[in-house]
Amino acid sequence: MNKLCSNLFLKNRHFANLFIPKPYSTSLEDTEKIKKFRERQRLRKEISEERAGEKTFMMLKDEMGRLKKGEFSLPEPKLPRYSEYVIIGGGIIGSSIAYAMKNRAPESFDLMVVERDPKYTRSSSALSVGGIRQQFSLPENIELSLYSSEFLRNVKQHLSILDDDPPDISFQPHGYLFLATEAGAEQIIQNHRLQTELGAKIELYRPKQLKEKFPWLNVEGIELGAYGVENEGWFDPWALLSAFKKKACSLGANYVNAEVIGFEFEDRNPILGPERGDPLLRTNYMYVKDDEGEVQCIEFAFLVVAGGAYSAEIARMLNIGTGRGPLAVPLPVEPRKRYVYVFNCPNGPSLDMPLIVDPTGTYVRREGLGGKYICGRSPAAGEEPDVSNLEVDYNFFEKEVWPSLAKRVPAFEAVKVSSAWAGYYDYNTFDQNAIVGMHPYFPNIYFATGFSGHGIQMAPAIGRAMMELLIDKEYTTLDLKRFSMKRVFNDHPIYEQNIV
Ligand SMILES: Cc1cc2nc3c(=O)[nH]c(=O)nc-3n(C[C@H](O)[C@H](O)[C@H](O)COP(=O)(O)OP(=O)(O)OC[C@H]3O[C@@H](n4cnc5c(N)ncnc54)[C@H](O)[C@@H]3O)c2cc1C
Repeated sequence: MNKLCSNLFLKNRHFANLFIPKPYSTSLEDTEKIKKFRERQRLRKEISEERAGEKTFMMLKDEMGRLKKGEFSLPEPKLPRYSEYVIIGGGIIGSSIAYAMKNRAPESFDLMVVERDPKYTRSSSALSVGGIRQQFSLPENIELSLYSSEFLRNVKQHLSILDDDPPDISFQPHGYLFLATEAGAEQIIQNHRLQTELGAKIELYRPKQLKEKFPWLNVEGIELGAYGVENEGWFDPWALLSAFKKKACSLGANYVNAEVIGFEFEDRNPILGPERGDPLLRTNYMYVKDDEGEVQCIEFAFLVVAGGAYSAEIARMLNIGTGRGPLAVPLPVEPRKRYVYVFNCPNGPSLDMPLIVDPTGTYVRREGLGGKYICGRSPAAGEEPDVSNLEVDYNFFEKEVWPSLAKRVPAFEAVKVSSAWAGYYDYNTFDQNAIVGMHPYFPNIYFATGFSGHGIQMAPAIGRAMMELLIDKEYTTLDLKRFSMKRVFNDHPIYEQNIV
């Protein structure tokens, strides 16, 4: 199989263009590494085909060199050269897909998860707030979340491993409370109708009822509140990610620590040939850089891109958004920085406090029971912070978050921020919904990304849906056809109204 890899380098007349570095795609340094790797492969091929004597000599020289250093066996390549399924990204989405695939058919295929950041220092999954709610406006999102909540309820049954402690995701069953002014009330009523139809348990409260239920809440300016009485709350995202990963590995998924840095393409245009028409690009080969900076080529039959906020970088390596014809349409996902602030307020609301979403977009919830809370808010359109680092802007808390907190819960007039962090939303700029399914141009490449701030809660359901699509070639449990990348090609956005 690897021989094929090197043949492709020579046959492909387009690769010169494909590896001209483009913004955010393969870096100059990595492009050089790929070139060197190709050159080594080419030399090896030439030697093996034309200069057998020289090859024997070189092998002996190589072997003698190793013997001198005390190495007595041939080095094994660090990473496998082939895997039928490869998932790029071992965050919650990639890990849930890996689990669902291997759980369905543990022995039937190889499955590799390529993750460049095994400590997940910049992964959204590890930096998430871990909330789950059914209060969405689109049926798909409501159903995804209903499925996930059922999964989380039985997480010990699904993700336990023999001879290991069952996973503890510390699920806190306290609903979301969405508050609306007069202007937003109609939308809440419409959402509520659909949510109820689909089986979600959401109750609507007028200000008087709100005040009775949550006496510490200031209902000034509020027309309506929607409160999830079942299946909503929050959990420990890190514990869920670890449990998915552990279980997937126990079933045979192979997690490798490497970064995907490029792809090798072949032109399969059967009619016009490479010189005359647009090429029909296909790829079954990707370049990865391991933790020591060594480049290797891995062959795959099917690829799933679950790179979170970085998915568009991977798409660009696949020429998506930088190529011609159908490849001119970019993957509309980008990182958007979101701050989470932790604060103390000894006299704040206690056990009866839901996760509140204020009409301003500020959200706040308890973190344990010792007067500790976490909160945040998405910035206004046009005021997105710089995404080149994960530094926290404390002024944003003072200016934008705290005033709305203090107005809505008067006890929060006196608070002390104890810590904060920032993470990236995997933000879909097209319509703020997931992009899931096969790419319309590449029949062996699938995407599961763009969750725009609700990917943690949807991960169990997305894992299942992607497993069905990859193995059964159709959705059998949840129909996510509308979430395909085709809608971007056809310019048919489907907007989610309830983005926090
Ligand atoms: C502050 C914050 C709060 C949030 N709160 C919630 C919430 O309450 N509820 C909710 O449902 N969601 C929430 N989210 C969103 C949720 O965290 C994300 O939607 C979800 O984690 C996305 O998971 P993922 O696996 O797609 O991405 P990630 O967790 O980012 O995983 C993608 C992985 O791909 C790897 N990768 C990328 N490129 C490459 C490459 N070239 N080679 C190898 N590996 C690569 C990365 O290292 C990364 O680990 C929040 C997000 C943030 C930032």
